[in-house]
Amino acid sequence: MGLLLLVAGPAAAAELNFDALGAEATQMLRRYIRVDTSNPPGNEIAAARYLAGVFGAEGIEHRVLESEPGRGTVIAWLPGRGNGRPVVLLNHLDTVSADASAWRFPPFEGVVDDGFLYGRGAIDCKGMAVVEAMAMIAIKRSGETLDRDLIFLGTADEEVGGALGAGWFVENHLDLLGNAEYVLNEGGHGRVLADGTVVYEVGAVEKTPYWLRLTATGEPGHGSTPRGLSSVARLVRALERVRTMPRPIRVTPEVALYYQALAARQPEPLQAKYRNLADALEQDEEFRRQFLSRPEDAALVQSTISITVLEGSDKTNVVPGVASADLDCRLLPGEEPADFRARLEQAIGDDGIEIEVLLNFPPSSSTIDSDLYASIVRMAESEGASVVPNVLRGFTDSHFFRTRGMTVYGFVPIVLTDEDTKRMHGIDERVPVAEIGAGVERLVSILRGIAAK
Ligand SMILES: [Zn+2]
Repeated sequence: MGLLLLVAGPAAAAELNFDALGAEATQMLRRYIRVDTSNPPGNEIAAARYLAGVFGAEGIEHRVLESEPGRGTVIAWLPGRGNGRPVVLLNHLDTVSADASAWRFPPFEGVVDDGFLYGRGAIDCKGMAVVEAMAMIAIKRSGETLDRDLIFLGTADEEVGGALGAGWFVENHLDLLGNAEYVLNEGGHGRVLADGTVVYEVGAVEKTPYWLRLTATGEPGHGSTPRGLSSVARLVRALERVRTMPRPIRVTPEVALYYQALAARQPEPLQAKYRNLADALEQDEEFRRQFLSRPEDAALVQSTISITVLEGSDKTNVVPGVASADLDCRLLPGEEPADFRARLEQAIGDDGIEIEVLLNFPPSSSTIDSDLYASIVRMAESEGASVVPNVLRGFTDSHFFRTRGMTVYGFVPIVLTDEDTKRMHGIDERVPVAEIGAGVERLVSILRGIAAK
């Protein structure tokens, strides 16, 4: 009897050999990196077909979709018992480009060296996709049936905003996700702290992009004969006012929680400040100065503005009639775009500067009071690690699914050092080989651990 129970029960877990699965996943990632999906142009259909082949070989039901010729999306389903709504494993098929001449190894080869697998997408997001695919395959091979359906979804076009990927998918094919409750996406991972301990960051909130174009007009003319305030001079004046405008500090509840969780690991004088960040920033001028001098910290307590694109004349001796600049603004959760714009207009103080909105969508957040979050915490605790909710300074595809009512977390179950993390979108992107198999094992444990409903 005991033996029968062991075979039929959760002990099926013991049958999975995660070392072997990790080695297999590593080979899969090497092959996947060789499918170049630099966006633009993307050509994600090649990646969608590659992953479809992987699922097909395992007898897992799947489908390839195309938003436009070449812009592929792949979806695969592993049915559960229906005791709870489906869980979506989301990733994107495209990558940013890579300048091979700056890399130590060719970026689209998947070279393994000294414990690391190098290649564009090794983490963002092909590494994550392989961990998700292999976790699904592992569960299928184990013969067990989870309470909930698992759905793998690899989309196009994330790196330039997702209009031809996740945006298109939720508009046209949302029914393929059934009544999904949870989505795991990129946007958080395990971090090794200075003292060697591990903390898993789970992206539950994202700042909102509010991209603006400022346009100034003025009398055009010849560069040899300046007259009045030109469009360019007017624009430069406005930009300087934008650059130096006051940026109020606000500590949102999620950010307060995040720093509280990191407090215990700070040296003594900082611990109390991290436990009550809002008060410390308000009352301790020296602490505030140091905190705001670190861009990563400052961006979590302020709405930010980066001046990026500039356009004026294309000839040295021509004064243009029109000049424009793009601002990449990122608003804190809870900040109304209309209020932010009013502050900006007041700072510019020039009715002649036109402001056009290039991109904006509603704030995107998910509660951490959920069965999925609880399962992530149990996995972390089993390794002696901790979990903190995180606010993303940037944005991912998560907002497309949050606005459709799903609970979405940015969470890749792999542990990275800061040295690994900073290479994403940069040169020599890499993932520690040991983390690929470990990631599969952690994800299987999390998926098995989500409570039935
Ligand atoms: Zn990504």
